[in-house]
Amino acid sequence: MKIEVLRIGQRLVRDDRVTTHVALVSRAFGASKILMYDANPEIKDTVSKVNKMWGSDFQVEIIEDWKKALRSKKSDLYKIVHLTMYGENINTIETELKKEDKILVVVGAEKVPREVYDIADYNIAIGNQPHSEISALAILLDRILDGKQLQKKLGNAQREIIPTKKGKRVMNKTID
Ligand code: SAM
Repeated sequence: MKIEVLRIGQRLVRDDRVTTHVALVSRAFGASKILMYDANPEIKDTVSKVNKMWGSDFQVEIIEDWKKALRSKKSDLYKIVHLTMYGENINTIETELKKEDKILVVVGAEKVPREVYDIADYNIAIGNQPHSEISALAILLDRILDGKQLQKKLGNAQREIIPTKKGKRVMNKTID
């Protein structure tokens, strides 16, 4: 399944750390791109450094108009998956969601406008209690991909971690 993420909200510049974490979770948990606007351009540099060192070509796209981006993805046959505590519980919708080919996951930063609920093909709650866009996104992606992304090796990495019971083992893959 092709997965992209759109982060919306009115305070993205003041919310840099959370936006960075949303981008890193998207990358590490199996999405191929994040679309964001009004965000600090340094987030793009941070993600590209992570890509270079740890692999993948995960993309950060800075957009001007999120409503236009939503419409454009919809006409490109992406299903819009809006994460909201008011939605249908993930446990009831998970099987249906897994059958989709392309999805755009929308996460909010604060109050999300009504039109997002209307344009969404799925309004999904990761439980019906308020928590965070970072945790909601991680759990959604983990449910969709059944944890497989946690063992996936990402291409073009300079370094690769060798999992160990204690300590840190890192293989340097670049040839000097
Ligand atoms: N009151 C806000 C609203 O009206 O959406 C909640 C904002 S919350 C701090 C930021 C984002 O986290 C939400 O827009 C949503 O994407 C995500 N989120 C928080 N709790 C969630 C839950 N239980 N299920 C799904 N997504 C959640």
